[in-house]
Amino acid sequence: MKRKQMKHREWWSEGLNFTCLDECGKCCDEPGGIVYLSPDDAIRISSHHDLEVSKWLQRYCRRTLDGRWILNSRPKDDICIYLNRQKTCDIYEVKPTQCSAFPWWRENLRSEKSWNKTLGFCPGLTSEDAILIDGDTIRLWVDADKEAQRGFRQWPPLRKK
Ligand code: SF4
Ligand code: SF4
Repeated sequence: MKRKQMKHREWWSEGLNFTCLDECGKCCDEPGGIVYLSPDDAIRISSHHDLEVSKWLQRYCRRTLDGRWILNSRPKDDICIYLNRQKTCDIYEVKPTQCSAFPWWRENLRSEKSWNKTLGFCPGLTSEDAILIDGDTIRLWVDADKEAQRGFRQWPPLRKK
């Protein structure tokens, strides 16, 4: 007889409070931050610039040591090239999936310790304006972040088998 599989419930499955605060920009304004890109990110953002994907990659991106494409950062302070003087994102409407998925990154939700660190970092999680984000929505972002982190190493990307 097949044993019924128990669905694993994450500690955050009842939802967590959050709102992204206007005028914050803290998660972008971090030296050394890495934004991995999914193929869809590359298509969307290059089209926003009216560039072919390969040209956009050469002009605005770089590779990690293992060859995945990531957004470039400014040489003077190692901060994302798309963060402008007003501390807002120049490509807000087409920004990468990983940026939209913050703070629902696997690495943040992995343990109480990492979540406490995230609570201390992102004021939108403790703001009185924060609203409950349900567990299903969080799951969608966690999965999207996971997929984006997988990234791609060549363009066009290799098809999944
Ligand atoms: S740190 Fe939090 S509140 Fe601030 S911009 Fe990022 S997600 Fe929004
Ligand atoms: S692309 Fe935009 S949202 Fe993402 S890190 Fe850069 S400035 Fe922030």
